[in-house]
Amino acid sequence: MTGPGVAALPALGIDIGGTKVAGGLVAPDGELLATARRATPGASVGDTEDAIAAVVDELAGGYEGEIVGVGVGAAGWFDRTGDTVLFSPHLAWRNSTLRKDLAARLQRPLWVGNDADAAAWAEYRYGAARGADLALMITLGTGIGGGIVLDGRLRRGSHGVAGEWGHMRVVPDGRLCACGNRGCWEQYASGTALGQTAREVARTSPAAAALLLERVDCEPDRLTGEHVARAAHDGDPLALELVTEVGYWLGQGIADLAAVLDPEVVVIGGGVSVLGEMVLGPARERLERALPGRGFRPGPRVVVAELGPQAGLVGAADLVRRAVAEGEA
Ligand SMILES: [Zn+2]
Repeated sequence: MTGPGVAALPALGIDIGGTKVAGGLVAPDGELLATARRATPGASVGDTEDAIAAVVDELAGGYEGEIVGVGVGAAGWFDRTGDTVLFSPHLAWRNSTLRKDLAARLQRPLWVGNDADAAAWAEYRYGAARGADLALMITLGTGIGGGIVLDGRLRRGSHGVAGEWGHMRVVPDGRLCACGNRGCWEQYASGTALGQTAREVARTSPAAAALLLERVDCEPDRLTGEHVARAAHDGDPLALELVTEVGYWLGQGIADLAAVLDPEVVVIGGGVSVLGEMVLGPARERLERALPGRGFRPGPRVVVAELGPQAGLVGAADLVRRAVAEGEA
């Protein structure tokens, strides 16, 4: 099955996170025709593959027509071909042959790759980055993920791990990161960072953090980024200040990326992006001040993602459709 005919067929998209496998049957125009999900208990490689197979069986079993293949996006670092998961901070994969295992189990054409890459592709095809020459995706969640679409192609770098800008060092000898280094961008501009800063402030200045502490029975260690986000929505001044700080770091990082890549648009997705202008406003303000050559050059548009939490599976589905059409899956 190759050639232009496949462009009209739906594909399955699968998004693998630390706690769940979410799947969807996706039409060529990006519309979700059906969805399914499973928990990934134990986070062992075998359990995760069982959950993927169960989601695929459920979605394929409920559809009478032909399906192009299965696109799988996962929170991990892949090699260039997508054959091997090099490393996944929140899942059990270490140099795992995910693609080979899934090809044997599913017996369908496959695209396998990074979840933020898949989300970037979805925003380029159907969302906030439609038609851009050079679009960057920044997903703000537990960490910071990224994807690059250049001249109509997803770009994954020479070894498959481009766009991992969550690990740019922004603070020398700063906070320790899961990658083993200190001061990484995701330690200052992610949902996790929002929670960590809130816990630090609540421990040292409980009076200033009184409203936040009310949400966790006065136990500062229980504060998460989500608590801060909800408090910011309710107008808590400290929470707003913490969210503004995340926006500041976001804008600084975007200015650095603009110095390297000169993107047309930067799309902000992931859990933190639901805060919208509360984060994007301060980010744009910082970007304007920190952009190299400011005043003498255009900078990127910074916009919120349009496809929400389904972006990863929608993008993965379109990537397998494209791979099959080009004889690569
Ligand atoms: Zn790091």
